[in-house]
Amino acid sequence: MKKIKSDLVVVHAKQLLTLQCRAKGARSGSNMRELGIIEDGAIYVKDGNIAAVGPTDEVASKIDLSRVRVLDCSGKVAMPGFVDSHTHLLFSGHREEEYFRRLQGASYEEIQKSGGGILRTVRETRRASREELLNNSIKILDSMLTHGTTTVEIKSGYGLNTENELRLLSLCREMNEKHGIEVVPTFCGAHAIPEEYQAKADEYVSLIVNEMLPAVGRQGIAEFCDVYCERGNFSPHEAKRILQAGKTYGLTPKIHADAFEYRGASDVAVEVDAVSADHLTKTPPNLIERLASAGVIGVLMPAFDFTLGSETYANARGMIERGLPLALATDLSPACMTESMQLVIALACLKLRMTPEEAITAATVNSAYALGRGEKVGTIEVGKQADIIILDIPNYRFIPYHFGVNLVEQVVKRGIPLFKRAS
Ligand code: ZN
Repeated sequence: MKKIKSDLVVVHAKQLLTLQCRAKGARSGSNMRELGIIEDGAIYVKDGNIAAVGPTDEVASKIDLSRVRVLDCSGKVAMPGFVDSHTHLLFSGHREEEYFRRLQGASYEEIQKSGGGILRTVRETRRASREELLNNSIKILDSMLTHGTTTVEIKSGYGLNTENELRLLSLCREMNEKHGIEVVPTFCGAHAIPEEYQAKADEYVSLIVNEMLPAVGRQGIAEFCDVYCERGNFSPHEAKRILQAGKTYGLTPKIHADAFEYRGASDVAVEVDAVSADHLTKTPPNLIERLASAGVIGVLMPAFDFTLGSETYANARGMIERGLPLALATDLSPACMTESMQLVIALACLKLRMTPEEAITAATVNSAYALGRGEKVGTIEVGKQADIIILDIPNYRFIPYHFGVNLVEQVVKRGIPLFKRAS
């Protein structure tokens, strides 16, 4: 249930991270280190949007504090809510035993071949009732919200037939209406080749192009189209065919690229003018340059590699040096069970060698651009939606430094306080 909007003002934030920067669009290079910090900062929120930002004495002098709700953030950090730009959180079941098999040496591909992995979740998700799927997903969204995420992308992809893919996307729409978190829907019917099409991948690709995409387009229930372009799933050629068809129905392309090996998926991102290429763990340097000059955003998900027990991570330093804007996401799925963008930021610093400033930029404004919402969320600027989180920490470096716990104390979405930690 949506609550009634009331004006509020955040005051005395020890550090207010506005993420304001002169550069337009997704941030790259040294602009990824620009957090736009205001000491003793304040944000005035009117009708769900940001109406004033600045030092507390300046903002407070313009408003009658007795008429608005006041959030005193003395000693704390205020910043934009996290944007999680890549998840598969709409599913039934769980796969913890596979997780431990992987840690004992089984590969992701071996598990998939033995009937586990994505196809197991597809079987369980097809069987699950609408209510069960909704309850599972809302539980995850609740946890994401308390960890500071205010916008999340959700992919379909555990249906793998027209009826079930449409069912999952309609559940995304329902969650967006029912939950405080803003849900961005992505059609990912090309997540895996379903069991009934194992020996005839071509036919499944034709089903996506000729039946699923037109239906998704007619119903207007997705904004993006994504393809899992890895060995054993979809080839670069098939990915290109699907993403180009998706464009004709108004779906912006995204692609799972180079997670396990480089086989041309990031080239497809350039060729179809994708908004993002996601994973990029094995992307060669010349492709990083091509992605950067094509204006593609790299979405990195170190929690996924972490749960693989991998020692190989994306070359984030090389990407930033080559001017590729980077975003971060959880990649939440039954294979990677974390809701926490705070943990992702910690892993980005530890494993990707990103600086805290770069990781925070990637988890907010750049992630918003990866979802086509960079003009609306991801920074604290006048006119933008008031998606604000307050963390009980003395400075922003504590986000990666004090890891493994929830540092978020309050969450405000569209000007409405949705979460406050019990004190
Ligand atoms: Zn994914």
